Amino acid sequence: METTLIIVFAELDGTISPGALESVSAAQSLSQSGFAIGLIGESIQPALAQFIGCGASRFLAVTGPDFAQPRYATDSAAAEALIRVAGSTLVIAASTPRAQRVLPGVAHRLGGRADTHVTSLSAVDGQPSVTRWYYRQRMEGTFQRAQRPWLLLVEPGCSAACPSASDAPMPAVESLKVEVSSALQRTQVIGRQAPPADQQTIRPEADVLFVAGAGWTKKQADGQPHVADAERLILDFLRKSRASLGSSKSLVDISGEGQAVLSCLSHMNQIGQTGATPRHPKGLSTCCHGEEPHAVGWRFIRERRAINLDPNCGWARGKADVLYVADAFAVIEKVNALLAQHPS
Ligand SMILES: Cc1cc2nc3c(=O)[nH]c(=O)nc-3n(C[C@H](O)[C@H](O)[C@H](O)COP(=O)(O)OP(=O)(O)OC[C@H]3O[C@@H](n4cnc5c(N)ncnc54)[C@H](O)[C@@H]3O)c2cc1C
Repeated sequence: METTLIIVFAELDGTISPGALESVSAAQSLSQSGFAIGLIGESIQPALAQFIGCGASRFLAVTGPDFAQPRYATDSAAAEALIRVAGSTLVIAASTPRAQRVLPGVAHRLGGRADTHVTSLSAVDGQPSVTRWYYRQRMEGTFQRAQRPWLLLVEPGCSAACPSASDAPMPAVESLKVEVSSALQRTQVIGRQAPPADQQTIRPEADVLFVAGAGWTKKQADGQPHVADAERLILDFLRKSRASLGSSKSLVDISGEGQAVLSCLSHMNQIGQTGATPRHPKGLSTCCHGEEPHAVGWRFIRERRAINLDPNCGWARGKADVLYVADAFAVIEKVNALLAQHPS
């Protein structure tokens, strides 16, 4: 019988990532005897409230100002203490940057194993079994391990978030004391630097994926390309909507052919068979034909819309929920004007 612990990091404002509630659903899918939740953060009360009624048999926490910062030394000490005290053989966490940085090292300390990019958990012959993608999500593998503790980082968006029962009483929490020596405090997080919204174009947590295709650089109705206009419109849309920017392969390849390109794009933005397969609730394709090698990268995008001048483009053949047969330059100009009137 496994002893399961879900590790949750509380953010600086006390909230948790949406993936933390999804990892509860992932743990429930093992249909074992139960699970504990271990919280780490300066203050865990707002986070704790979201787990009311989730079915956890035990709540443990490492709290205090020393654990506010996403710092390897203190985060790993806290996670190690939680796993030891809970006697966990199976440890589950949402795959956030903070957990990704820390938990493989904790597994090493405890003589266990860590697996990342986990997409589902199930019980096979009473043993936990894990599914993950390989090779840019083109191959799926299911496997088990004998080594314990087994630490699993579960990808966001793969399970439904566990609903909380706000009318239930606040659970009791066992507080663990973790010594924080001066050596553990050598690293101080003094701030956060993020590029402006129009420079950091890949945003895995964005609600919308905005895809730019090669049509943005092609000759338009007046016989001329309008690449500078295209770049202005796309960056303005990204700034206002905070969407994540994806691209077709043709568009990112164009730079190699010496043509005018959108400077905001690199191969990192490419979606498709030889690109990324992101997970966003919605996607909007613009000036992109929607050929199969591109559209296959949309397999996890739940609601798909496309803007294309060609009513017979690939999106029209069952790949998009809605196809707007229209000039994307005109549509995005109008959308940007509407977004300016209703800033979020
Ligand atoms: C092995 C292999 C792997 C591949 N992997 C990938 C991959 O990972 N990702 C990928 O994207 N592709 C991939 N491809 C390439 C893919 O097949 C297509 O060639 C590519 O996706 C086409 O890009 P596009 O739709 O942007 O360009 P185009 O095919 O040139 O389409 C441009 C579109 O823009 C439209 N358009 C032009 N002007 C406007 C306007 N003003 N308003 C609205 N619409 C307009 C046109 O009607 C046209 O449909 C792969 C191909 C192969 C063989």
